[in-house]
Amino acid sequence: MAELAREFEALEREAVDRFGAVRDVAELEQMRVRYLGRRGRIPGLLGQMRDVSPQDRPAVGRAANHAKRTVQEAFEAARRRLSRKDSEAAATGLDVTLPGRRRRLGHAHPITQIMDESVAIFRRLGFVVADGPDIETEYYNFDALNTPSDHPSRDIQDTFYLPDGRLLRTQTSPVQVRVMERQAPPVRIVCPGRCFRRDTPDATHSMNFHQIEGLYVNRRVSLADLKADLTLFAKELLGPDVRVRFRPHFFPFTEPSIEYDFSCIMCGGTGCRVCKNSGWLEISGAGMVDPAVFEAVGYDPEQWTGYAFGMGLERIAMIRFAVDDIRLLYENDVRFLHQF
Ligand SMILES: [Zn+2]
Repeated sequence: MAELAREFEALEREAVDRFGAVRDVAELEQMRVRYLGRRGRIPGLLGQMRDVSPQDRPAVGRAANHAKRTVQEAFEAARRRLSRKDSEAAATGLDVTLPGRRRRLGHAHPITQIMDESVAIFRRLGFVVADGPDIETEYYNFDALNTPSDHPSRDIQDTFYLPDGRLLRTQTSPVQVRVMERQAPPVRIVCPGRCFRRDTPDATHSMNFHQIEGLYVNRRVSLADLKADLTLFAKELLGPDVRVRFRPHFFPFTEPSIEYDFSCIMCGGTGCRVCKNSGWLEISGAGMVDPAVFEAVGYDPEQWTGYAFGMGLERIAMIRFAVDDIRLLYENDVRFLHQF
């Protein structure tokens, strides 16, 4: 009756294959009834054990026990496999057999985009990027920029002070001073970065904002160089039709000082809501570096001249992307940000 032992082995192989291929609970139950149920094929074969001769019985018995145990284990494994699939689906609320949903790719923040583009344009003009700390000393933020402690322009640049007397920088200009202290002329740098002022937030003011400043020091640098470079920058950033206008102004660290405007990109200069019907958008300030600033860093003002300019990146981002409230740029609402 070794024949019966071989039947057990064949049945075992067949049942293990079938349980391994089971795809759902209904099929699992069907297979369980077929192989392990009361009238199933394993109990059926076990029933034939009665007719096995005593000398064959040990061998057939071993094959029977092995088959019974192995098929039972295959059944349990299939059941565990199906219930794991079930609980995964329940935990995620997703049918894993559905096709996936494509993830939206992120992109740079509008201010970062403007900063990167501006830096790229100035790099083509021969500027290199210089960096400095957000936490500054009074000396670098004010004194070295010809703004002593009794100077009225300190009031409009009130900021946040640390207990040790240091402060959050109100402008990126301290970087210019740090570079000039380290390096002999000529200098051609842009300083992009974050700045802080104690402003009450509204549609155009924020306690933290970003600037990019430029400094060019060489022999015989003039306002004409400044005008040419800023005009080229404006056309590269906002389009070839943009014009630049200079107006006299005052800053403590430049002499003469100017403010500059770009022609309105919304209306092309004819006047609209964005430019308050003037046709011009105020951008920021610039001028020829004051000789007192050169003296403070050890440059000879008889030999060297230079221009400096600065602009707020929020202002440019708001013009470029037609955003009318600066606070929107800081709320980190992806529904807003993904539009740009
Ligand atoms: Zn306009």
